[in-house]
Amino acid sequence: MPELLRQLAGLGGCTHPIRLDGHRTEYGVDTRTGEIGNVLHRLDSTGLPAGHLLVRCNNRRATRCEACAEVYRRDTFHLITSGLRGGKGISERVAAHPRVFATFTAPSFGPVHNRPTDPAGSVRRCRCGVHHDQDDAALGTPLDPDTYDYEAAVLWNTHAGPLWRRFSTYLRREVAKRAGLSQRTFRQNARVSFAKVAEYQKRGAVHFHAVIRIDGPEG
Ligand SMILES: [Zn+2]
Ligand SMILES: [Zn+2]
Repeated sequence: MPELLRQLAGLGGCTHPIRLDGHRTEYGVDTRTGEIGNVLHRLDSTGLPAGHLLVRCNNRRATRCEACAEVYRRDTFHLITSGLRGGKGISERVAAHPRVFATFTAPSFGPVHNRPTDPAGSVRRCRCGVHHDQDDAALGTPLDPDTYDYEAAVLWNTHAGPLWRRFSTYLRREVAKRAGLSQRTFRQNARVSFAKVAEYQKRGAVHFHAVIRIDGPEG
């Protein structure tokens, strides 16, 4: 049991570890002659307490694996904050670089059931006349399925990746143009970088949150 617990502890709470079968042998190598020497370490998955080598699933979705999604969430937090204020090997000067926090949302494909709030923060009635609960399954579904533009909604999600790529290409072109530079000269003088996350809205449309930063020639 203690050995099994030690093996499981290495998974950091992953609930769907990947089970690997196989073996690994490490040999010592004489760095002068390149000659392979003694066996230093040998690992055989069948000899492990669980009968397999277990590795984290690293799934990003909390619904699939809460522990791995949490690790991903924290990693992402550090990645993005270090890009905003420096740290973790990034210069603190980035904090003074121009950046934008933007949300990219799909157009309307037709009205959906929602929970509108007034400026005071209290929830108003949906257009269907109902006060929807937060976990009402109707939320995000079309008010009128006969007129909702499902085709456009599907096309939007399918093309969300290429749309983003196109946006980033045209953004660089536009920034270069406004700076009065050719694209080649712009690339030599500045860099546009971004961090983005994709999310599903209640209505099932992909939308992006992104931090976009411009760095100068000095880094
Ligand atoms: Zn996991
Ligand atoms: Zn409604």
